[in-house]
Amino acid sequence: MRVQRSFGAESEEGALYIVGTPIGHLQDLSPRAREILEQVDVIAAEDTRHTRKLLTRFDIAKKPLISYHEHNRKTRGPQLIERLLAGESVALVSDAGMPAIADPGEDLVREALERGLHVIPVPGPNAAITALVASGIPPVPFVFLGFLPRHPKEREEALSRWKEAEAALVCYEAPHRVISTLESVYRVLGDRRIAVARELTKTHEEWLRGTVGEALAHLAEHPPRGEYTLVIAGADPSARKPEAAWWSSLTVEEHVEWYLRRGQSRKEAIRSAARDRSLPKREVYRIVHLENKEEQ
Ligand code: SAM
Repeated sequence: MRVQRSFGAESEEGALYIVGTPIGHLQDLSPRAREILEQVDVIAAEDTRHTRKLLTRFDIAKKPLISYHEHNRKTRGPQLIERLLAGESVALVSDAGMPAIADPGEDLVREALERGLHVIPVPGPNAAITALVASGIPPVPFVFLGFLPRHPKEREEALSRWKEAEAALVCYEAPHRVISTLESVYRVLGDRRIAVARELTKTHEEWLRGTVGEALAHLAEHPPRGEYTLVIAGADPSARKPEAAWWSSLTVEEHVEWYLRRGQSRKEAIRSAARDRSLPKREVYRIVHLENKEEQ
C-alpha cells in the first residue's frame, strides 16, 4: 500500500503527468494542461510533430519533446523512467484525448508506479466519455471496448461476450470499418439503439441516433468519413425470454400430484400449483376434479 499526495512539496520532483489534449476543438485544452506542459522538463508525445503544433498554437516555450509510441515504448519507457528517477518532470500526451485510452501510456504508468514515482492525471477530453454523455443511451453502467478486432469473426466473438450485459457498449472505429462493424453489431446484438458520433468537437461533428439498422441505411447513402465513436445500448432485460418454469412439462394434475407426494394436503397442493401457475385455485380444483371424474 502506497499513499501518493499529488499536491505539495513531496510531488514537485520526478512526477509523471498524464495530460489530456483536445480531440478536435483546440479550446478544449484546459488551462491546467497548458500550465503543466509549460512547466515540465520534458514532454513525451505520441507524434512529436503533432504535439509541436499544439505547443506552438498555445505559445508554450520550446522544450524537449521525446517520441513515445506503440513501436518504441519498450526502449523509450526505461529512458523516461531514468529521467523521472533523476528528478525531471515528464508530461505524457497522445495525439488526441487521454493517453492510455486506446493510446500508449498504460505501460509507462505501471513502470513509473513500480519505481515509486508520482503519477498525476491532468484530465482532458476523451472521445468515449464525450460520446457517451450526449448519446441519449443510459450511460451507467458502461463498458469501454476500445477498438474491436479488425476481422469480422474475431470481432463478433468479442461482441458476443457482451451480449447479455445490460451496460452501454462504447467503442472506437476507423471510418473504413464502421459499416462492417455495425453489421457485426446487428448480427450479434440485434437491432439495438445506437448513437454513432462522428468528428466530435470538430466543425463536422455529426450524430446518428436511432437503431443499428437505421444507422446502416444512413451510411449506405452517406459514406463514412472522419473519426467515429459508437455507443450501443445494453441488453434489455425485459426482452429476455423467461426461463421455462420447473413445472412447465407437467399437466395441472401432475403438478398437484407433485405437491401431494411431498406431503401437502390436497387443499395445500391445489393452492401451491395455482400459485405457481398464477391461476385461481378454483380453476385448478375444477381441472383436477374433472380429470378424476373422467378416470372413474
Ligand atoms: N486517447 C483518445 C481518447 O481519449 O479518446 C483516443 C485515441 S484512439 C487512437 C483514436 C480513436 O478515438 C479514433 O479512431 C476514433 O474512433 C476515436 N476518436 C478520437 N477523436 C474523436 C472524435 N473527435 N470524434 C469521434 N471519435 C473520436
